[in-house]
Order: sequence, then structure tokens, then C-alpha cells
Amino acid sequence: MENWGCVTYRTVCLLVDEKNTALKNKQYVAIVVAHELAHQWFGNLVTMEWWTELWLNEGFASWVEYLAVDKLFPEWKVWQSFVNDAHNPALGLDGLLTSHPIEVPVKHPSEIDEIFDAISYLKGAAVIRMLASHLGLETFRKGLVAYLQKFAYKNATTVDLWQMLEIGGKLPEGSVSSLMANWTAKMGYPVLSVEAKEGGFSLGQQHFVSSGDKGHDTLWQVPVVYELYDGKNRSAKKMLLKGASENMEEKGKYTCALFNQGSQAYYRVKYGPKLRGLLFEGIKAGVISDPVDRLAIQADLMAIVKAGVDESVTSKEYFDLIKAYKNETEFIVWESLLANIQSLSVLAKAAGFQEAFSKYMVELLQPIAEKLGWDSKEGEPATDQMLRAQVIPLIGIHGHPPTVKKALDAFTEFYDKKQYTEEFKGKSALPADFRSGVYRIAVKQNGEKAFEQLLMIYKTTTFQEEKVRILRSIGAGNDDKLIERTLAMSLDFKQVRKQDMMYPIFGTVGSEKGLRATWAFLKKNWSFILKEFKGTHMLVRLASVTSRFAMEEDQKDVEEFFKSNEHPGAERKVKQCLESIGTNARWLKRDRGAIAAAVGAA
Ligand SMILES: [Zn+2]
Repeated sequence: MENWGCVTYRTVCLLVDEKNTALKNKQYVAIVVAHELAHQWFGNLVTMEWWTELWLNEGFASWVEYLAVDKLFPEWKVWQSFVNDAHNPALGLDGLLTSHPIEVPVKHPSEIDEIFDAISYLKGAAVIRMLASHLGLETFRKGLVAYLQKFAYKNATTVDLWQMLEIGGKLPEGSVSSLMANWTAKMGYPVLSVEAKEGGFSLGQQHFVSSGDKGHDTLWQVPVVYELYDGKNRSAKKMLLKGASENMEEKGKYTCALFNQGSQAYYRVKYGPKLRGLLFEGIKAGVISDPVDRLAIQADLMAIVKAGVDESVTSKEYFDLIKAYKNETEFIVWESLLANIQSLSVLAKAAGFQEAFSKYMVELLQPIAEKLGWDSKEGEPATDQMLRAQVIPLIGIHGHPPTVKKALDAFTEFYDKKQYTEEFKGKSALPADFRSGVYRIAVKQNGEKAFEQLLMIYKTTTFQEEKVRILRSIGAGNDDKLIERTLAMSLDFKQVRKQDMMYPIFGTVGSEKGLRATWAFLKKNWSFILKEFKGTHMLVRLASVTSRFAMEEDQKDVEEFFKSNEHPGAERKVKQCLESIGTNARWLKRDRGAIAAAVGAA
């Protein structure tokens, strides 16, 4: 919390231990610290005029945090991470019909809590990044300096910001206010449809709704940067799409054409069959050189698949596309691929394909896992370390025998030699990056024995990050009793701090069995939860686990439950979850066969 002169943090957002902190957590600490310090300018020095403009605080702090961390730790490539951690999650939430505009009227104190969400933070940051890229960073910086100087120790509105940004430099067409108006005032964002045609491209825009339902008629001013590749050279060009559609002349020959280069602008791209085919070939041939572009091609395709808005694009096309990433070695691309496969796994689990799906995952991950190996290599890029931290535990979780063995051996040594204690000074058998995943593998494979060992570590360690890792892992097994014990622990505030109660819950919903047990547990204990957490953000977090369901009957059950059980401050979240379950259910109905065939469950 960014109080002026007294910034406060949760311990896990501030404390780093060289030996026991996973790289991902270290980066998280850097991001959070930069965020709170950014508020000293955006929030404290210049304060939003009213809650409607909350994004001037949170959107900016969420953008500046990347700016600062990128300067401090360039090797982490955090602007690439921005696409996975901010840009895509914002597009996901904002694709719902139950989303809201960045600027919302706030008339009652109870409405304030609800807008501290990914729209104010992440969409806010994403549209700032889009504008900075469109204006040019230097022009944008000059305008921002003028804004901070003029409104120092005062309040400001969104329009004040746009006007000051024009001081930095005029736009070739129109004003910053007209360019940005619908990005902050309207809910959602467009999908840019693009296809090759004789002598150029046809472009179109339409409000994108992730459920495939009809959206509203808003037209945005859409900055389009596109790149053509002719087999030898690449050239980038720029245009601004204002109308619903436009035919664009393009005389240059190309073998590959890519739109929204670098995912700088906040929208999805839907390619027609011809351009899509060229891109698939381009990925295979290794000509899409920016990892962020490779990431975006599959992320956009997945959004289209999920929405079911194009009959020629189903889960089968997504699985086919994954094959083109066979030689991929960039962390950021894998991270996005795995997140999207995770949404397919929600369907696979609901359909009862969990086992076949795990087999598919092992086959998919094996080449990259072998390439990376278990041990870090001298002088390797930080992003390889990040990729290893994700891939190795994951292939073990899906049951890859050599990795499971290695993980269990390492865990045994780590436990037996008490390497989790402060007294231990040597090199740990279990690198901090792997611990979360290995703890899960241990509980899955060794059940109660591993569960008790983890509880022992939990009680012994004084390191908060370790405690959180354990809370998030102990519910990952298949044993009903252990799942029940994990869930019960979440509400036993002698064992688990109140502010940490969501971790055991989040760690349990990964399996179909765990998800169902968790939902039953939440329903049973809802009145106690309300008594303890009413008026906090916890209700939103707990309600969000229901979005992992993919069956119509679950949608009805969740709806019925919240109809008769109050959930103050989480009303919008519940509506969003119901919409997500509906989307999952329709997607599963459409693509059940395609998913079964792709993972070999047919
Ligand atoms: Zn903040």
C-alpha cells in the first residue's frame, strides 16, 4: 500500500532470500515495490479527481512498474512478460459481456471495491502502453512530465491527461482525446479481421466478445502496425483504422504478413485463411523473429477458438498450430502456450480425459525438457532459467517417469537433510525454482507421507514464501482425505494466517476432484466465510474458482447458490464466472471430439 512516507507490503511482496526465493517471486517483489513507488507520483503527487478515474493511479502504476524493472533488470525482459502478465489477462477479462469500462461512474462506497480489478490495473496499463507506442516514447514522456508538473499536489481527470499529452507533440490525425475516448469510456475492445486480397488487405473491426455473443456497435480508433516479410527483408508500416472496414492498398510482395506487431495495441487479430496459412508456415520456417509475435499468433487464435466465432477455426486448428512450435525455445512463448493449453485442460478434465491429456503433455514437453535439463547452466540467459522452472516441474506433475524419480529423490534429500532450515548453509538438492512443482509431485505420488513432511517444513520454516509454496501444494494430490484436510486448514486461523487462506484453496482446484471438493467446501462454509471476510477482496478471490467449471449443470448450481447467498463486493465477479462457465460449456460441446482426437482420448 502506497501511503505517502510509509509504504506497506505483505512480507512475500518484499522479502527476498538469495537461496530460497524462486526467480519468479524475486521478479514479483521487484514489480510490486516498483508499483508502490510509482504511486508516489501517480496517486500521491497527482491524485485522481474521483473513483471513476482510479485507473490514473492503478493503470499508471502498473505501467511504470515495468518501465522501472526493465531498467533495473534488463536481463528479465519484463516488457515481454507484460504481454503474458498484463495484456492477455486484461483481454481475457475485458472480453466478457460482464466486464466494465476503465472509467465507471461510482456512486456508492460499495462500488469502489469492485473496480480494484484487472480492468483498472491491467487494461489501464495496456492502453497506456498502446498510446506510448503510438505517440513515441519520447513524446509521451514529455507530455507526462508536463502533466505531473501542472497537477502536482492537485487532482486530475482523464481528459486533463490527454490534453497534457498533446503538449509533447501533435498527432498526425485528430487529438489524443478522440483517439483514446472509446478505449477508456467503453467496455471491451475490437477484434481486427484481416485478409489478403488482390492488391492489398481488407481490414475490419468489431467488438470482440469471448463467449461469441454479439457485442456493442462501438468503433475504436485502432492503431495498426503491420510487418511484411518477403523472404529476405521485413518492413513495418503504420495506419489508423477508424471505420468499421477498410481496403488497404499494398503493392509489396510478401510471404508472410503480421498485424499488431509486438502486441503493442490492445486488441485481438483474426486472420483470414490465407494469411493464417502463411503465418503457420512462417512459424515453422522460423521467420517470425520476435517471440512476442509468435506468442500473439497462438494467443489470438486461441481466443477465436474459444469464442467459436469462425467455423474454420476450432480446437483442432489450435492443436495443429502447436505442432509448428516444435522448435520453440523462448520462455515467453512457452508460458503463453502453456496457459492456453491450461484452458484446454479445464475442458479435458471436465470431459474425463485427464489421463490422456497428461500423456499428451508429457509428449509435448519432452523435447524442450530434455534440452533444458534439470540443472542450470553457467552463463545461460535468465529466461532459460525461467523456462526450466516452468517446464521441468510441469512434466513431472504430468507423470514423466524420469522427472518424477528425480523430483522425489531431490525432495527426500531436501527433507532428510533438513535443507529447509536456517541452519543449512550448503547447496540445496531442491532449487527454489522447482519447489512448488516438486512439492506437488511429492503429494501426488507419495500421498500422506509427503503431506506430513510438507506440514513439518511448514511448521519449521520462518520464511513466508516457503509457507505459501507449501499451502499452494498440499491439496494437489488425489487422496480425498488429504484434499479435505487441506481445505479445512484454510479456515483454521491458528495454522494459516487469515490473509493466506486462499492459498490452500487455489492449490486444490487443479484437479477435477479437487475443484468439486473445493466448491462443496465453500458452499458449506459460506456463512462462516462471510462473517470473517465480508468487506474484503477475499470474497472475489474465492468466487473466482468457479470459473474453472465447464458444465451447464455447474453453471446452474453456482447461479442458484449465489442467488440465495449474499456475496457483497463480489457481485460482478460472480456474473463474470457464470459467463465464463457458459463459454466453457459451449466450447466443450462444440470441440469435444476435436480435443479427444488431439490428446488421443478418442
Ligand atoms: Zn496500486
